[in-house]
Amino acid sequence: MLVIDKNLLVQMFRHAKDDYPNECCGVLIGESYTENSVTGFCKMANTNKQRASYRYLIDAKEHYLVDKKARADGLDIIGFYHSHPNSGACPSAYDCLHAWPAYTYLIISVDECKNTLARAWILSEDSKTLAAEEMRVV
Ligand SMILES: [Zn+2]
Repeated sequence: MLVIDKNLLVQMFRHAKDDYPNECCGVLIGESYTENSVTGFCKMANTNKQRASYRYLIDAKEHYLVDKKARADGLDIIGFYHSHPNSGACPSAYDCLHAWPAYTYLIISVDECKNTLARAWILSEDSKTLAAEEMRVV
């Protein structure tokens, strides 16, 4: 179960709207030892410039620096978020193929009217698909 503050979710929706029609991406920061509770997030640049409308790529060095900062604060990277412009909040085959175990993948659907919807996903035990993760907005 992913627990997320409503204000944080609204800010991530804002990121998805701002970067439309390209995919936005970022890192979910939080506490993983009790429950998957998001305490903050970090916007990341989508470095996939050629296919930014349907793919995202987070720079490895940027990822490392955010991870280091989170750990220094006693927190962890607990997952990632990205948007699906003009597409549903369900993982693509590409998303499933590149998912890492135990991380939450929050996918934000955003359309041209700037309607947004988020769903959380986590890699299934057979590591082949992303399964829906229950999400509680607080
Ligand atoms: Zn995706």
